[in-house]
Amino acid sequence: MGGGLKHSTSFCWHKLGDGLLLIMTNVYTESLNRLIEQFGKLPGIGPKSAERLAFHILKAKPDEAMALADAISNVKNKIKRCEICCNLSEGKLCKICSDTQRDKSLICVVEQPKDLINLEKTGACKWVYHVLGGHIAPLEGVEPSDLTIDKLIKRVQSGGIKEVIMATNPNMAGDGTALYISSLLKNTGVKITRLARGLASGSTIEYASGKMLTDAIISRQEL
Ligand SMILES: [Zn+2]
Repeated sequence: MGGGLKHSTSFCWHKLGDGLLLIMTNVYTESLNRLIEQFGKLPGIGPKSAERLAFHILKAKPDEAMALADAISNVKNKIKRCEICCNLSEGKLCKICSDTQRDKSLICVVEQPKDLINLEKTGACKWVYHVLGGHIAPLEGVEPSDLTIDKLIKRVQSGGIKEVIMATNPNMAGDGTALYISSLLKNTGVKITRLARGLASGSTIEYASGKMLTDAIISRQEL
């Protein structure tokens, strides 16, 4: 979090990322200080990197700098959720739901759009998805109703679905979420599978390698 911790006539300490950055408030302008502070809030950006990025923007041509500002603005203003699967989309339906080559009788359930992207990178998936928006975690205040589980159940109940593939993370929260959903789908007669355990227990789909994910997809098991 940004914000001055200690002020004097010539400098203040700003907490940025994991460290503290001495910002010479008399040397930098207010706008530059603000930019350094905003960069410092980004993951993996330490105080020195924040300062370097801010100076890079300062030196960049105006159209290059504005292209970055525009890209940030578009991501926040244009991206919404697909009306069918809740994936990221700039239209009513995402690219996957709009793809006529996809097998729409197979729904792969993931926690986050980043998991979907990683699964897609394997090239092994011809199915469609359902993005839950997280996992059930009562201790963190995340209840089933906070996720898109209701929408998934209605989607399956509306017919035409042969298999639901649970691709929630192979950790306690992901397993619990997969089991909860499979219990709700029990009476629908739809086959429910889980990605195989080639994925290390406690790991996440987001960081799994393509080879590992492909193996897990091919050898998925019935829940
Ligand atoms: Zn979609």
